[in-house]
Order: sequence, then structure tokens, then C-alpha cells
Amino acid sequence: MIIKSKKEEKILKEGGQILARILSGVAKYARAGISTEELNRLAEEKILKAAAIPAFKGYKVSGRVFPASLCVSINDEIVHGLPGARVLEDGDIVGLDLGIKYKGLFTDSALTVVIGKGDKQAQKLIAVCREALFIGIQQCRDGAHIGDVGHAIQSFVEAEGFQVVKELVGHGVGRRVHEEPMIPNYGKKGSGSRLKEGMVIALEPIIVEGRPQIFLDKDGWTWRTKDGSGAAHFEHTLLVTKNGAVILTRQSLS
Ligand code: MG
Ligand code: MG
Repeated sequence: MIIKSKKEEKILKEGGQILARILSGVAKYARAGISTEELNRLAEEKILKAAAIPAFKGYKVSGRVFPASLCVSINDEIVHGLPGARVLEDGDIVGLDLGIKYKGLFTDSALTVVIGKGDKQAQKLIAVCREALFIGIQQCRDGAHIGDVGHAIQSFVEAEGFQVVKELVGHGVGRRVHEEPMIPNYGKKGSGSRLKEGMVIALEPIIVEGRPQIFLDKDGWTWRTKDGSGAAHFEHTLLVTKNGAVILTRQSLS
């Protein structure tokens, strides 16, 4: 596990603020009629303007190279959706996941919106996922077990009638997009390794309306639900301290 220096913390705070501003700026454009490629283009433009670098574009997994700056995952697409010609429609559940490299260090954040009003179930799915992230964040402090975090997220999500996806997990972040440790959205209190002051982690509940079984789309990137039910995803990059977590990718951190 990696403990960041004070200098790295400072840069990650700056990068987190830039990422928060860009992601919320892009989310404002997520409306019926816009293509997902257009959202990606906007994200990329804003990243370069901020003197940062898209973290996901060029990211390699087993020989494949991710082609875009922004992941856009719609409805039964859970995460890692590829932007393209698809146009957003009223009622779509749209996950936007963005990572940047700023002054050499990475931050990672995601949110989910519904296009237009959406149905009650979609609204609830999104609200529960967002709250699950904050419930998890409340567990993050020096000395907490990773299982405490996952347990808090999983019990809340299941009590609300949804399921967490076990194959997709949070992670350390900073010097690389994905670092040790893995941080599952499920677990047992008191299990797993302990969080330490100075760790920087990306916590990211990923939840589904129906059954939690998933499969990889033939595009090689997009994870989807087997039963076709909707999914939601929220993510913040956090700095672990003695007293709790500082949300580096929250807007207007000060
Ligand atoms: Mg992410
Ligand atoms: Mg992540």
C-alpha cells in the first residue's frame, strides 16, 4: 500500500478539484439528443485546457487500448462504456466516469444521472448509489478495515432493495490509475487490511436494480448486467486521515 507524501497530497487535491469541475461541467451537457461521443469530446477539451491529461485514453488491459477520455455507461451498461454515435434519450440512466493525470498524479471520479425525469426506480437507484458512496466514505479513516467500508456500503444498498456488483471494486489511486489495495463494495466488519493515514483511494459503489450477474460486452470494455436491469455508479478520490476522509474530488473543497 502506498502512502502519499505531503507534496503528492497537495497535487492530488489540486487535480481532484480540476476533475470535479470538469466532471460536473460535462454532466450538465448530458441531455436528450446529445451523443456520447460529444460528451467525450467536451471532457477531453476541458481536460487539456486545464493542463491535465486524460487518464483513461490509452489505458491498456490485456493488450487492448481504451480509446476515449470519458466512460459513458447507459442503462444496463454498468461501467467502462465506450462513447460513440449513441444519442441519449429521455429516461436513460447515464454513468459518467472520468480520470485525469495532473502534474504526474491521477484522480478518478464518477457520477450517474438520469436524462429528463426518469422513472421512480431509476431515481431511487441513483439516489441509493450516491448515498452508498457517502456511507462508505464515513467509514474511511486511519485504522479502519477495508471490510468495514464494504460492509457499510453493501448493507445499505441491500436494505434499499438493490445489489452491489462484486466483480468491480474501488482501488488505491495516485501514482497510477489503479493501485493497491482493492476496495470491494461488500465485506465483513473487521476483515481485510487497514486503511492508513496518507493513503489515497477511489471508492466507487457500483449497484444494480436486478440480479448482480454481469458480462463483458463484445466491444471488450463495457460491463453489462445479464438480466438487462439498470446500473448506477458514483466515485470519489479520497485522502485517508486520522479523523476521516477528505474528498479530493468534491466540488469546492477548501
Ligand atoms: Mg472511475
Ligand atoms: Mg476507479
